[in-house]
Amino acid sequence: MTTTSVKGFAGVDVPNDDVITNCMHCGLCLPTCPTYVLTGLERSSPRGRIRLIKSVASGDLPMSELFVEEMNFCLDCQACETACPAGVRYGSLVEAARAQAFAQERESRATRLLKRFFLGTVFSSHRRLKGLATLLKVYQRSGMAWFLRRTGILAAISPKLARLDPLTPQISDSFSSDVLPEVLSPYGERRYRVGFLTGCIMDVAFGNVNMDTIEVLRRHGCEVIVPQSQSCCGSLAAHYGDMTSARRMAAGAVDLFKRDGLDWIVMNSAGCGAFFKEYGHLFADDPERASAAELVAARTKDLTEFLASTGFRPRHARPSGNKRPPRVTYHDACHLAHTQKVVQEPRRLVQSVPGYEYVELPEASWCCGSAGIYNIVEHEAAMQILERKVDNIASIAPDVLVTGNPGCMVQIRHGLERRGLNVRLLHTATFLREACDP
Ligand code: SF4
Ligand code: SF4
Repeated sequence: MTTTSVKGFAGVDVPNDDVITNCMHCGLCLPTCPTYVLTGLERSSPRGRIRLIKSVASGDLPMSELFVEEMNFCLDCQACETACPAGVRYGSLVEAARAQAFAQERESRATRLLKRFFLGTVFSSHRRLKGLATLLKVYQRSGMAWFLRRTGILAAISPKLARLDPLTPQISDSFSSDVLPEVLSPYGERRYRVGFLTGCIMDVAFGNVNMDTIEVLRRHGCEVIVPQSQSCCGSLAAHYGDMTSARRMAAGAVDLFKRDGLDWIVMNSAGCGAFFKEYGHLFADDPERASAAELVAARTKDLTEFLASTGFRPRHARPSGNKRPPRVTYHDACHLAHTQKVVQEPRRLVQSVPGYEYVELPEASWCCGSAGIYNIVEHEAAMQILERKVDNIASIAPDVLVTGNPGCMVQIRHGLERRGLNVRLLHTATFLREACDP
């Protein structure tokens, strides 16, 4: 993809002007856009936002507070890209607009401070992230969280905090990066050597999923290389416009994963995988790192993409006894389905596990409302979007719901609990690992 700076968006690489002029204003993307469906407002649709970006880029409109709000109200789910017959790269445009708003400090002071603290300070240092996660674990395990919730003290202190509390990820007993060695041998003959990103949230809150992923890979004949001293890949920062932090974190990841001898780099988080695949475009002004970044991007595959393309077969049927087979369904993470276009591979893998009845989830690729930190900063809208997802889940009453992104897991778990639905929510890696168990 050729990139250049759109006028008015200097310093931010976005696809050239064609992506803007390519928009035919046909409106085919509108019914796929959760924020348009929610509000009915043209300015909250992909087509409306493209017009706004074009107007600000050409200087016809100022970068107003309303403009910035509208950019942040977008989930960046990229369902509109999937629907667009003209191939408009909407995601690149909205991320460029957010980056420009962040660079020009056009957001509220509170939002800027929040972003700088979490994206630029906590996530940019894995040591700091682990420190914060350890404090959170003490809060969650000591009974203090339970006490504050049950007594209503949390709601009395801050109703907003009480609403956000259930969306806090449950911190793992141990962090996967603390226990994983640099090299893990395959069971049996080595077929591939793959790099593995432990991630940030995946490391501290989904350590079990990281272990399941590695177990599946080893059983599939992979030697797994886990570069030590990893930190966040930068995707969250890029998603919210802090490109300086995003580039810094991405540079660290490129330096760790550019090593010789890796066949693939395997991802188990849709957002991280999507951003790794974009690394080649991030370092236009750093030619030396740009070629390494392109190499890393080209080697990156989602776990399901890798397993499906290399003939993974689950080895054992899950016993179902005399009862009906458990019903399993699959929810598409936006950054896997819409950004990476990985749609069929996870379905084929889930369907290949014997002993289950696969049922397609209605509107499986409709965003769940998680979208990075969207469910925190746009909480009301995120909860309304979640309701639609839970309605669809309830309509098919699955026993198991499989998905491939930590944000979706936290958000959907909250939706299921609120509705009182008894559905086992599993990451794809865990579902496949169970299918390999003796
Ligand atoms: S990225 Fe999602 S929320 Fe944003 S305009 Fe496109 S469909 Fe709508
Ligand atoms: S973004 Fe694509 S689908 Fe949406 S209005 Fe423009 S051309 Fe049509």
